[in-house]
Amino acid sequence: MGEKGEEIISDLRSYLEYLKGIGIEALPVSENKSEEAYPNSSPGSATATTLEEVRKELGDCRRCKLHRTRRTLVFGEGNERAKLMLIGEGPGYDEDLQGRPFVGKAGQLLTKIIQAIHLRRDEVYITNIIKCRPPQNRNPEPDEIQSCHPFLLKQIEAIQPKIICALGAFAAQTLLKTDAKITTLRGRLYDLEGIKVIPTYHPAYLLRNPDRKREVWEDMKQISEWMDENDGSAQLAGERRR
Ligand code: URA
Repeated sequence: MGEKGEEIISDLRSYLEYLKGIGIEALPVSENKSEEAYPNSSPGSATATTLEEVRKELGDCRRCKLHRTRRTLVFGEGNERAKLMLIGEGPGYDEDLQGRPFVGKAGQLLTKIIQAIHLRRDEVYITNIIKCRPPQNRNPEPDEIQSCHPFLLKQIEAIQPKIICALGAFAAQTLLKTDAKITTLRGRLYDLEGIKVIPTYHPAYLLRNPDRKREVWEDMKQISEWMDENDGSAQLAGERRR
C-alpha cells in the first residue's frame, strides 16, 4: 500500500475512534443511504440547497429528545452569502426564548468580537452545532449532535463560506471530527472541503477566563487578514456574491 493509502486508513481510523468517543458504535451500511437521506449533506457538493429550504426541511424538528424541553428551535441568522460563518455549541436560555443565536451575555461578547474586525452581525452567519437548548444548558449529547449534524452541513453548503470560526470545543470537535482539546485545536488552521476552519475559544469561556481574550483576538486578526486577502474588503465581505 502506498503512502496515500496509509494516510487514508489512518484518517479513517481516527474518524472511527472519534465516532466511538461520541458514542456511535456502529455505522449503518446500505447502498447510498446517507446520500438518499441527506442529498447535499457534505459541504462542497454540486447541488446546494438554500437556507430557506434547509429550514423548511428541519421543520418543527422532533428528531431528538431536545424537542421536548426546548421553547424555540434556533436555526441561525445572518447573511446567506456570508464569507464568515461562526458556529457555536447550542442555544442557551436567552436564545431559546428569542429563537436567535448568541443573544445572551456570551452573544453580546461575540457581537463585540465580530465588530472588532469591522464586521456586523448581519454580514456574517451565526449558528450552532445543535439547534435546541439542552435542559439546564448541559453539554450536547452525541445523539443530539448526530441528529443536527446533517442540517449544519446543509447550512454550510447553502452559505458556502470561505471561513468557519468554530467557537469552543464542541463546535471544533464536531466539525473537525476529532476529540482533541480546544487548547490543542485553537490557533491552527484546518480545511473542511476547501473551507478554512479556525477553532477558537467560546465566548462563554472568555467571560469566565478573560485572560484568554488575547488568543481569540489573534484568531480574529487572522480571519480578518484572510478576508482582506480574499476580496480586499472585510467590511463588504458578507454583501458580495461569490
Ligand atoms: N452559546 C452558544 O454556543 N450558542 C448560542 O447561541 C448561545 C450561547
